[in-house]
Order: sequence, then C-alpha cells, then structure tokens
Amino acid sequence: MRAAILEAYEEPLAIRDVDPPSPEPHGVVAEVDACGVCRSDWHGWAGNWDWFDYKPPLGHILGHEPSGTVVEVGPEVETIREGDEIAIPFNFACGRCHECRNGYENLCENHLGLGFQEGAPGAFAERVPIPNADINAVKLPDGVDSHDVAGLGCRFMTAYRGMAHQGDVGRGVYVVIYGLGGIGLSAVHIADALGANVIGVDIKQEKLEMAEDLGAHATVDAEAVEDPVSEVHDITDGGADVSLDALGIEETCRNAIESLGTRGRHVQIGLTTKEQAGYNSLPTDAIVMNEIEIRGSSGLQPSRYGEIFNLVSTGKLDPASVISEEITLPEVNDKLAAMTDYGTVGIPVVTEF
Ligand SMILES: [Zn+2]
Ligand SMILES: [Zn+2]
Repeated sequence: MRAAILEAYEEPLAIRDVDPPSPEPHGVVAEVDACGVCRSDWHGWAGNWDWFDYKPPLGHILGHEPSGTVVEVGPEVETIREGDEIAIPFNFACGRCHECRNGYENLCENHLGLGFQEGAPGAFAERVPIPNADINAVKLPDGVDSHDVAGLGCRFMTAYRGMAHQGDVGRGVYVVIYGLGGIGLSAVHIADALGANVIGVDIKQEKLEMAEDLGAHATVDAEAVEDPVSEVHDITDGGADVSLDALGIEETCRNAIESLGTRGRHVQIGLTTKEQAGYNSLPTDAIVMNEIEIRGSSGLQPSRYGEIFNLVSTGKLDPASVISEEITLPEVNDKLAAMTDYGTVGIPVVTEF
C-alpha cells in the first residue's frame, strides 16, 4: 500500500509502497477514507514533543486524523464488523486500566498515539491498523455518514471536549478563542452551537473571516490592534467567561488567561513547541486575584462520541465545515511546509492515496 513515511525531520515525507498491516487478535484494519492534516502532524514532522514521548521515530508513518471502513477483523473482536464505517480516535486506549474503566479512555494509562508512537503506524496510508477495536473503533450511527466524519479528525473531538466538558460552556456566556487553526475554528463552531457568544482572535484575515462564517460573534485581529486583551475586555464588558488557547505559545496562552473576567475558566489545548519545551510563564497574580480556573483538555473519550453524533444528525454541528480542501497524499508535504509559517487556512484532508 502507499504511505507517507517520516525519513528525516523537517524533510518531505517519502511517499512509497510498504507492506499493508494485518489486524492483531483484538484489532481491525480500516481502509482510510480520509485523513486530515493537522498542526500535530507538523509537530511530529518537526521532531518536537520528545519531552512527553510523542516524537515519532524515523521510519514511522505519520497521520492521526482518519475516518475509514473496516476491511479486516481480528478473531477476538466482538462488536465491529467488516464494512462498518468508523470514526477513529488518535489516542488508542487499552480499555482495562483505571482511567479507561472510569470512562476516561482519553487519559488511558497505556495509550498509544496514532501516527506518533512506536506500535501505532499512522493514517497517511491506504490502510491503518486499530488495536482494541471494541474500544477504539467507533461505529457511525444512522444519520451520520463518513463525509460528515472526515472533518472530525483530532481537532473536532478535542475542541468538543475542550468546550462542552472541560470549558463547561453554556448558553449566553462569552468564550474567547486564541488561534484559529483547526482546533480553534472547530471550537468556534462548537461553542456557538452550545449557545455561547464567541470571539475569535488570530493574525490572519482569512482565518478571522472563516471564524465569522462558523458563528463567531466578534473577531479580533491581534496584529491590527494595540492590545487584543483590552479589545476582548471591551467586547465582553469586563472579560470573557471562558478562554481557550489553541496554540500553546506563551503569548496566546497569557493573552487568553488575561482576557478572562473574574472567576473565568481557561482551557488549554495547544501544546508547546521546541522554544517552550513544555513550559509557558503565566500571569500568576491575576490567576490568584481573579480566582481563575485553569483546565487542560486532551482528546475525547470514544464513549462520548455519541454526543457529537447526536448534534451532527440533528444538524447543529457540521464537522465538515472546517475542511478547506481535499488533497492527494504527496500534497501533505506542501501543507506541512506551509504550517511552519501558519500558512494554511482551515483543514486540508487527504482523500486520494
Ligand atoms: Zn486504559
Ligand atoms: Zn490532529
């Protein structure tokens, strides 16, 4: 099968034929219908994230945002059948550890990062193996088709958990979102669907416009204004109720927290780059004086995907709305290179392998 392989960091992925995977006893193999290209792929390609064991080894197949159709089923699998259309999480869970048994498969103690870690080859390929398929392959319900789900990727499910669960976003609150890449734009759409007034902040006009199309109540061009934080305080008359940093760099993390009003809640989804290597300084005194709450948000447990599917089947959410273009496998290289300067808008999705 054709696959895109990481042979050297920050060099174009090698597109070549490799042996197709076969399923482990509890696993399945899916034919990849679509796979999004995401900033996390860029981090892996750039050789980041060794500080939390997510630096992909050389020779690895990248790609962690697939949807697919099951083509091979291991003998121990109970609930998934050949021909099932499935959504696939990017952090495979074991189903047996303490966190899994408490319904937090996204925090599985034995998790495997698809397209990042040894043992979980990625989905920039014609086929992808999925371990523990009864947990990690989520069958699409009636009323949701694979085109809807091609937009789910990691971005949509991660943004959903960030807004609906960790951000606890409710009707009428102000939500400010820093960084309008795939996660940020998905979060705009989701927070709007949850009934919030959403403010999107970025430095690229096309991204701000896309946020407005997805339901943002207001946008702030952080380069055009003197201070984006005071702009947000003006729009919200005192500060947002919930903030999200979708980027992970120090400036957006700090600005997001400072955009909150008293008792605001900050959600951190963006992960750091080499420059910060895991650490950002925070506005500590403001966190204390305003009783700011800070919550991390990582992925979404497959057992909660049903919430998204319900909102998709009733037309309130459309994960495909953040897809900007369909591309071929070799074109992934152009997109990774463009992400170095934040040059992509919306989500490119590989549909031709
Ligand atoms: Zn587990
Ligand atoms: Zn992703």
